[in-house]
Amino acid sequence: MEKYDLKSATIEQLTAYMTTIGEKPFRAKQLYEWMHVKHVAEIDEMTTLSKNLRERLKQECIFTVLKPVDVQISKYDGTRKYLFALGDGNVIESVLMKYKHGNSVCISSQAGCRMGCRFCASTLDGLARNLTPAEMLEQIYRIGSDIGERISNVVVMGSGEPLDNFDHLLTFIRMLTDEHGLNISQRNLTVSTCGIVPKIRELAEHKLQITLALSLHASSQEKRLQLMPIANKYDLSEVLSACDDYFKKTGRRMTFEYSLVGGVNDTDEDVRELVALLKGKNCHINLIPVNPIKERSFVQSDGETVAAFKKKLENNGINVTIRREMGRDIDGACGQLRKRYMER
Ligand code: SAH
Repeated sequence: MEKYDLKSATIEQLTAYMTTIGEKPFRAKQLYEWMHVKHVAEIDEMTTLSKNLRERLKQECIFTVLKPVDVQISKYDGTRKYLFALGDGNVIESVLMKYKHGNSVCISSQAGCRMGCRFCASTLDGLARNLTPAEMLEQIYRIGSDIGERISNVVVMGSGEPLDNFDHLLTFIRMLTDEHGLNISQRNLTVSTCGIVPKIRELAEHKLQITLALSLHASSQEKRLQLMPIANKYDLSEVLSACDDYFKKTGRRMTFEYSLVGGVNDTDEDVRELVALLKGKNCHINLIPVNPIKERSFVQSDGETVAAFKKKLENNGINVTIRREMGRDIDGACGQLRKRYMER
């Protein structure tokens, strides 16, 4: 029999489970609090539960706790990169970024990725597997416990394509923003996608208040195809129309991410095309100087080009920020820490 995944269960599911094993419903609330508020690392620490119940849970359930196998701390800005081991030996990475407005954690949604974006290290070895809701939540819980501070913002921008792990992502969002758990506001959660059109549309139907970020990275279908294989499946015009739909259904302004690759997508022509695509849309564009990976020959656009690119967008009334590079000294783009570890 498959073991019951305790930490991936919503409070309603856990209540039903407690009833099926002959326990009172209020036990579910206690258990949920031990897992999702107190973040205990062992079932035996749940002292309000009887010894019998604890033994039973240990026998019959999976109790997910991630083990840090490596932590790198930036000397400049306190950014921390964590490498966590999962129960089956897979490893994933997560990042803590400290901002004036609070602590933000960037989590992985899959071990590896099958999207194949050309500049990204996470996808070089393909997809190992989807993460469970518990494994997504645990990245945040372990980091919060490690620094002893509240985590106020979460971005699903680590390894993996969140909309390729759709059901687990939705459960994760429900649990993260549940008043019985960490109770993080949906507005403080961002999910980033390479643009899986039917899933963007499905997400829009849920009318959540999260921010959706689209990895755009190019100003035309032709150029996007060179960087992102997903463009073979969904044309740029379809992706942008799904984003319009997301805004219409949720009222949430879209974020477009654009990683600047020297000589590839940072020319005057690119800005002109980008303005034509986005002008008049209620959106925000985040420019990210590409983080070069050794397996590919892409280089960063230089500082002047980035600044000029930003200026031209602003002159056309488009909201732009340049993603501040955090943790420069512990570098490693998405997936690099994991890849290096796996090679060892
Ligand atoms: N699969 C999702 C989320 C993961 S990546 C997505 O595609 O959006 C988070 C962001 O980092 C994406 O915009 C991705 O394109 C970008 N990214 C990945 N590798 C990068 C690199 N080496 N340099 C700059 N940005 C990168």
